[in-house]
Amino acid sequence: MITSTTDPRPADFADVRATNLAVVLRFVREHAPCSRADIAASTGLNKATVSSLVADLIDRRLVRETGLTENRVGRPATMLVLDGSPYAAIGIEVNVDYITAVAVDLSGERLLSWRRSFPGAAGTAGQAMATVAGIVRRVVTRMAKEERQVLGLTVGVPGLVGVDGTVRIAPNLGWRDADLCGDLTKALRDPGFPVQVDNDANLAALAEHRFGPYAGTANLVYLTGEIGVGAGVILDGRLRRGGQGYGGEIGHIQLDPFGAECRCGRLGCLEAVAGIGAVLEHAAISPAEVEIELDEVVRLARAGDARTLALLSSVGHNLGKGVALMTNLLNPEVVILGGYYVPLAPWLLPSVEAETRGRTIAPDTGGCRVVASTLGYGAAALGGAARVLDSVDSGRLPRIS
Ligand SMILES: [Zn+2]
Repeated sequence: MITSTTDPRPADFADVRATNLAVVLRFVREHAPCSRADIAASTGLNKATVSSLVADLIDRRLVRETGLTENRVGRPATMLVLDGSPYAAIGIEVNVDYITAVAVDLSGERLLSWRRSFPGAAGTAGQAMATVAGIVRRVVTRMAKEERQVLGLTVGVPGLVGVDGTVRIAPNLGWRDADLCGDLTKALRDPGFPVQVDNDANLAALAEHRFGPYAGTANLVYLTGEIGVGAGVILDGRLRRGGQGYGGEIGHIQLDPFGAECRCGRLGCLEAVAGIGAVLEHAAISPAEVEIELDEVVRLARAGDARTLALLSSVGHNLGKGVALMTNLLNPEVVILGGYYVPLAPWLLPSVEAETRGRTIAPDTGGCRVVASTLGYGAAALGGAARVLDSVDSGRLPRIS
């Protein structure tokens, strides 16, 4: 069986020094507090090399020393932990009804978290880009006041995003071939940090893989529970995007050929019968009212309202059909339901689980658990920041300023 891991593998990269710096940085991230001797013993790098690499990481303020350990055999060792205090990674999620912005430091500590309602479906890609640019400028100004260098920005969008950062199709936003990455970079006037655009489900999966309670799980699927439904797929420890980056569009798999019309124009797509739109009373509800209406659904479900419980059970069964596609095809260890599914999870999960069990050929659903996300509505934005940190971990280290 061919597997890949996230273990340090220096031979994978051309630039040995940068690679080794990244190996040491990842080791400290995963094992801090740890000593130089721990790093040498686990990575196979010799002690002199480790000392030199650690000195470099300390110069870049990516790692710092913290006191001595006492309960060890032999000489006490100076322990190392992640620093990263002069840095920030920014993630932004643009969705149909809101924009979320998150900034974290190198260790993933949240520096800010903003959310505002946003009539995404009513405007153009250009208008959304201008709004995002304005938010980025405010975040960057705030980070500059804290004397932090921005390492990068990733914007998440609910749609097909090409490898060049062009949004090919975002059906729920009504965008086609929007060069969000290029236009945003121009609007920010060469910001001095990399700007990337990615699919929202991919980013939310990265957030779960780095920060969630199932962090490090090698085979993990995240399902966005927004107006649209998309899957972020991590297999063997890596995000899988497919040939052109368009994988994971589970929301447009047809569950019912006679079902409700989807915003993509097809009939009975999973997101039309199991997305949050299938739960809400009003199909054309204004974006800001989604949460208010969901609160009402939760209130009715808690009160045992029969119609609401039947509706949630039906949506849960439809969603379970989608989850079973994943369990049969990918055998994930965990499927995480995000977004608006989270407040509804107590009522959705029993029927999701029953449907998944009934449709998965492997015994015990192949060991798959279905759970609700604990990262909140900001998961994709947090994942945007995680993608920036991932690129630091893989060797794109900030220059010494
Ligand atoms: Zn569709």
